[in-house]
Amino acid sequence: MTKEIVKYYSKGDFKVVWKPGLCEHAGECVRALPEVYKPKGKPWISPELAGIQELKDQIAKCPSAALSWKQE
Ligand code: SF4
Repeated sequence: MTKEIVKYYSKGDFKVVWKPGLCEHAGECVRALPEVYKPKGKPWISPELAGIQELKDQIAKCPSAALSWKQE
């Protein structure tokens, strides 16, 4: 079994969690928050460019559950 890859993108104590293995590349995230999700960017997710509630609302709409979030 291969280990699942998980990437983290931080905004203070808030983290966007992305599992590339689950991503369907449907682009819902890019359409919702184009300033945050830039498929060609490095890193491709810049959570500091949106509000936390805005990020949470958009993450809830990811159709594949590739996106989630953590707050510590
Ligand atoms: S919305 Fe979710 S499944 Fe679609 S591209 Fe973004 S991370 Fe991938």
